[in-house]
Order: sequence, then structure tokens, then C-alpha cells
Amino acid sequence: MLPCRHNFNPGPAALPPPVLEQVQRELLDFEGSGMSILEMSHRDAVYERVHNAAIADLRTLLGCPEEYAILFMAGGAATQFDLVPMHLLPSGRHAAYLVTGLWSEMALRAGRKWGDAREVWSSAATGYDRVPEPGEVRIHPAAAYLHYTSNNTIVGTQFSEVPDAGEVPLVCDMSSDLLSRPLALARFGLLYASAQKNLGIAGVTVVIIHRPLLARCQSRMPRPLDYAQMAATNSLLNTPPVFAIYVLGLVAKYQLAHGGLPAVAAQNTEKAALLYAALEHSGGFYRGCAQPQHRSQMNVTFRLPTPELEARFLAAGAQAGFAGLGGHRSVGGIRASLYNGVSRVAVQALVEFMQEFQHKWRP
Ligand code: PMP
Repeated sequence: MLPCRHNFNPGPAALPPPVLEQVQRELLDFEGSGMSILEMSHRDAVYERVHNAAIADLRTLLGCPEEYAILFMAGGAATQFDLVPMHLLPSGRHAAYLVTGLWSEMALRAGRKWGDAREVWSSAATGYDRVPEPGEVRIHPAAAYLHYTSNNTIVGTQFSEVPDAGEVPLVCDMSSDLLSRPLALARFGLLYASAQKNLGIAGVTVVIIHRPLLARCQSRMPRPLDYAQMAATNSLLNTPPVFAIYVLGLVAKYQLAHGGLPAVAAQNTEKAALLYAALEHSGGFYRGCAQPQHRSQMNVTFRLPTPELEARFLAAGAQAGFAGLGGHRSVGGIRASLYNGVSRVAVQALVEFMQEFQHKWRP
């Protein structure tokens, strides 16, 4: 088996190589402390600096003012599916959900466990091939919040604009596109993202919450899952996932040093355009799954003429050093995830591989 040269995994996913090299350099003796960051108390001043720098750098990257709390939580984004309604959906109110794929379906299902969670829009009937157009959804002003998923990792669709929720707090699962483009943070009441796509490694979930919303949170939660308690303790209520937070801090610093979110967005747009152009110029051999105006810049999903050809494509791709190209097990097909850590060179190599494969196998 060849070593993996080009990593298109959906998450955990490719990290910027300089970040991995820095982790390696610092692993045995962190900043002259005589021990690894993996071995250090989370109450140590050295770790506290790492923790606070990660928060500060995220704030700078996102242009996130102090009126939002940034929390580092455990349990992955899937835990937030429950925590959002547990905190923000009181009895007698309802919450609105846009259902644009499996992950938002799961968020809705979790919402229904805890209260009156309602589907207000869904593209299930067409295989989740699109998200709503601006203005297509009307949200009842009495809703406790509107929940949506900004990038649908499995089907490969993405909101290009933030939906209009009026005065209703907007809650967003940004697991697969936070830090991939600039963000109009002021539009949101709460957003969450697990780190293992664009932010770093698995183990930490970032929750950003507008502080006035904290006052409205119901709090019968276990303390480490309680937004207000976590905000009050700077996410140091108990032992945080120190290594994941350290790596997140390195990724944030790396992005800041490379032009911040506008620069990364330009690169992501270019990478996605390269791959979508390859689909379009294939004469129908590679068929994109998402409607063109709703395509994701993060996860490019497509099919080949037959399941046999798809299996051959994946096997030949793996042989040629392309990892992680299989579609999610619920839908099959091909998916190339183009997160921030994936280089333009890798995408160009994939496009060339696709052209060669088509040349060889066009039926
Ligand atoms: N939401 C989205 C959009 C995702 O892509 C994923 C994971 N792929 C999840 C939620 C679940 O994340 P986790 O595994 O961190 O719970």
C-alpha cells in the first residue's frame, strides 16, 4: 500500500502540514517546561496560556466580540443536537428546524425528545439536493430559535447566505464549514462546530453563544454540559480536552498568519471551482449530486455511471494515493472533502486522476 499522499477525508481530516510539524517539534518538551503538553495539569499557567490564546485567536479570526462567549465543550457536535433544545426550548414554545440532510434530521429528532421541535422546511423529497433559497422560509416570530446546518457534509450542499430568522435567535451547526469563510457572527444566537474538519482534531467542540441568550438558558444540565457554567468558568470547569484545544490554537494561529478567513475563503473557492469544473467538463461521466447553485465548497459529491465504476474509481484512487473519497455510508457514491487543510495541488492531482480514469473507463 502506498503512503497516503492526498487526504480527502470528511473528518477527521487533513491538517496544515506546518501545524503537524509544530506538534511534533513541541511534543516532548513544551516551551521548555520539561514535559509534554499531554502530561501537564490543566491548572498549570503554561496550559492556561495555551487555552486563552486559542480563544483569543479564534476571536480575532472570527471578529468575535466579547458579547459572545466562546466555549470548548466535549461530546462532539452530536451532543449539541440535544444540548441546544435542553437549554433553549422551554415548554410552551416551539423551535423551528430546516432539514437539509442527515445531520439536521438528527438535530430535529433530538429536539423532539426535549420539546416542540418543528420541521419548517425540508429537501428530503429530492434527496437533500438543495437548501432553501433566500426568502423561501418564513419563521414564526414566536419560535424559540431557528436551527439549521450551514454545510451538509454528506450530501454536499451549503448555504451561501445566512437565512433570515427576523428576531428569532439563529442556531447553526457549522461543523463542516466554520473557519472556511468569513462569518456574519452578529446574525447568530448560537453556533457550534466539532473541531475535526477545519478547526483541528477530534475531541473539542466549539460553541459560540451570544451572552444575552445565556440568561435565557434552562439549567438542569450536568455542569460540564451547561452553557452558562462553562461560560462562567472559561471552559475550565473540569479537565478540558487539552490536546485538542492546543491543536485548535495552532490551527487558528496558522490561519491568522496566512491572511485569515478572507484568504482561506479565496483558496476554498478556487479548489471547489477546479473540481466542479472537472465534473461539468466530463460530458456526464461524473454527475454532481447537489443542485449547482447549492453546491458545497467543502464536500464535493458525485456519481459515476454505474456502482461498479464507482468501486473501481475508489480502488484505483486508493492505489494512486487518494484517501477518503468514498461517499458517506448512507448515500454511497464519491465525496471529496476540500477542507482548509487540503491543498490546491491535491485537488489538481485529483482532477488529473479523474480525467485519466474517465479516459480509460468511459463505457
Ligand atoms: N454535524 C455535521 C454537519 C457533521 O458533519 C457532523 C460529523 N460529520 C456532525 C454534526 C457530528 O459531529 P460529531 O461526530 O463531532 O458529533
